[in-house]
Amino acid sequence: MGAWLVLCVGYVVRMYAAPYLVMNSFYMLAILIQYFAFQNPDIFLDRKTGALSHLTATPYLQELNERGPFSAFAIGINDYTESCSLYGERQMTKGLRAITRYLKAAFPDCQVIYAAMGRFVLLSTKEAPFSQVHEEINARMQAPWVDKHAHLYLTASYAMFQGQLKRREGIDLFFDYTATALHRAEEQHDVIVMEQSLFDQARLNTTVWRAIDRAIETNAVEIYFQPLYGTQQRRIIGAEVLARLHDEELGFIRPDIFITVAERSGSITQLGEQVFEKACLFLKEHPLEEIGLERLNLNLSPIQCRDSHMAEHLCCIAQRHKVPIHSFRFEITESALSYEQRLQQNMDMLIAQGAVLSLDDFGTGYSNLMRVLKFPFEDVKLDMSFVRAYFDQTNKLLPAIIEGFQSFGVQITAEGIENKQMADTLTTFGCRIFQGFYFAKPLPMDEFLHYLKTTKPKVGSYTD
Ligand code: C2E
Ligand code: CA
Ligand code: CA
Repeated sequence: MGAWLVLCVGYVVRMYAAPYLVMNSFYMLAILIQYFAFQNPDIFLDRKTGALSHLTATPYLQELNERGPFSAFAIGINDYTESCSLYGERQMTKGLRAITRYLKAAFPDCQVIYAAMGRFVLLSTKEAPFSQVHEEINARMQAPWVDKHAHLYLTASYAMFQGQLKRREGIDLFFDYTATALHRAEEQHDVIVMEQSLFDQARLNTTVWRAIDRAIETNAVEIYFQPLYGTQQRRIIGAEVLARLHDEELGFIRPDIFITVAERSGSITQLGEQVFEKACLFLKEHPLEEIGLERLNLNLSPIQCRDSHMAEHLCCIAQRHKVPIHSFRFEITESALSYEQRLQQNMDMLIAQGAVLSLDDFGTGYSNLMRVLKFPFEDVKLDMSFVRAYFDQTNKLLPAIIEGFQSFGVQITAEGIENKQMADTLTTFGCRIFQGFYFAKPLPMDEFLHYLKTTKPKVGSYTD
């Protein structure tokens, strides 16, 4: 940057003072700045950790890549955000600094780069003995990172790259690629070798991420409605609001893809607020009592729930459109429960205003019934994979789980109901709400309103 500035000044001087041959001096000055930048990278250090920041490391990487093949070893702290909330921001920063000091001392031939969110990259022109580097760092990670007042126990995932990048884009996005590789390494509990498929995946994530930003900016996130059937009322009593994204360049993007990307990039909060605002606008035009519904269900991402002002923002939006917050049932997944304190604050505020909460996707991952019961959920939504497993005879626990929740006064919603047999059986188990293709797929607003007006509830033997 400094070098570019010097060259620009030199160019202006040459235009206005052509007789003085000063341009060469400016070239020299620019080269000197570049030289000192590489020899003294301290001025480009990441403030938090003392490692080279990934933003300033990109030109360094470009130079490295021009010289020939290079090696990169990426280290990502597992569950970084959870660790931050467990140890606190300050302790975590001290931990990151300790890791930087260790990496610099243990690998003096490498440039240590901090690539945000607990991710480090070691760069070197030499072909690295990766297994040795991995073993060494992994062994160090077994011990705590000690500070005067704290012992931080952290685990890490690893990814590696060896070669030369062909495209300019590959260099610009290299640190995004390492982030994707480290996510995969954490999911698979394995060391990931960065190769072409991963670069393609990361490039896709980046284009999706841009499409999300475009949609947020142009207010183009759409909402669909999937009807919810009340087994006691024997009619449609609500709907789950689901986000949809149609991008001019990429076309329709699957929700599971764009929601994951939005969660990783941090834009999920704005996206979630836009979805909520659109749901409020819908209710403003079609009040619940007019369309015969009790509530609308709305998804809150665990990332949104981490923000202690989430409930406040949602209440402001609802107030602005004069829609009572008690028109909503908010769906939260179990992973949000890790941010207990902030979640509790948010939950208290939403409940105080009359909203109810539902635990989404129960039965995926490691569900813990006793932990769930500590929170004020009115309702638990059984994930469709969990429901299906019962009908595939691979999981016999379903009736016992339903009974368990009901004995604590928690009602059950079953997702993924695709046929009458499923609905009949689950009614006998006492499920209160059904959602699934047997009733309807997620529908755009007009079709949903038409569905409510015209569809006779599927009154089968299970409702009589
Ligand atoms: P989810 O919250 O579990 O939503 C239910 C998903 O199951 C929807 O997928 C719905 O289309 C699908 N589904 C419902 N009934 C059936 C059925 O009978 N059979 C089958 N095969 N599928 C069924 P969709 O719309 O693709 O959404 C996927 C996920 O994306 C959602 O899962 C939710 O986690 C997330 N999502 C969607 N919209 C939002 C949003 O506005 N905010 C947040 N945070 N997440 C959202
Ligand atoms: Ca949901
Ligand atoms: Ca669900």
